[in-house]
Amino acid sequence: MRRPIPTYGLSLVDPFLLVDEMGPVDYGPGEAVGAPDHPHRGFETVTYMLEGEGQHEDSAGNRGVIGPGAVQWMTAGSGLVHSELPSEHFRERGGRMHGFQIWVNLPRDKKLVPPRYQEIPAQQIPVARSEDGRARAKVIAGEVFGVRAVIDTHTPISYHDWTLDPGADITLPVASDANVCVYVFQGTAHVGADARVVDDGQLALLGSGEAVRLATPAQGGGARLLLLAGRPLREPVARHGPFVMNTREELEQAFADFEAGRMGRIERTRD
Ligand code: FE
Repeated sequence: MRRPIPTYGLSLVDPFLLVDEMGPVDYGPGEAVGAPDHPHRGFETVTYMLEGEGQHEDSAGNRGVIGPGAVQWMTAGSGLVHSELPSEHFRERGGRMHGFQIWVNLPRDKKLVPPRYQEIPAQQIPVARSEDGRARAKVIAGEVFGVRAVIDTHTPISYHDWTLDPGADITLPVASDANVCVYVFQGTAHVGADARVVDDGQLALLGSGEAVRLATPAQGGGARLLLLAGRPLREPVARHGPFVMNTREELEQAFADFEAGRMGRIERTRD
């Protein structure tokens, strides 16, 4: 697993609290593992699978499978308990698992909204293409070249999964008040006006501006990258483990509520 946010010297890219890249990892039959029952409060988790198959279950009785290319956008809000595991089918057979989970903060007045899910199968995620076809994006949140995401976000953000063929060169408008970062997870990309080289596994944090340039050398292997942009909340962040609140008192309340069972528990319908 790779975790570009948070990392040493970078606790968050407001409003993005965390970016995890899970895998790519090859599991044999019976080897795949996940995160059993745990709570969340105060933010949103966004799971995006590239390969493999996950299964989730929660204390409100929701359950479902997230297959390759699908997105689960979960607003934890006031709190819930969930489990995130490989699907039974995947655990039995094994295979390659690769995906992302990002955490998006909620503003103070939305931290305790009722939990909500948006589950988008792969075929419903719109794809944007540059005119020359060398750059293609799955538009998970926000808008690219007039193609709009189907997900409704509490905090206005952009979340794109870009595939850049060799020789791609695009310039995307971004809100001038947004924080923008680019995480390369395959190959090498040139990012920003000064075409800074960003390699596989590196996160580029962009300065202020109204556009982002993404390019790849014509003689190269292209690149895959996530582009994340969001207007910062500029609020105090009190975070510990699975809870992200504004103050230490709210954080203590979250732990107390969880321990008292007020975030519920998962009723198992089967083993
Ligand atoms: Fe979780």
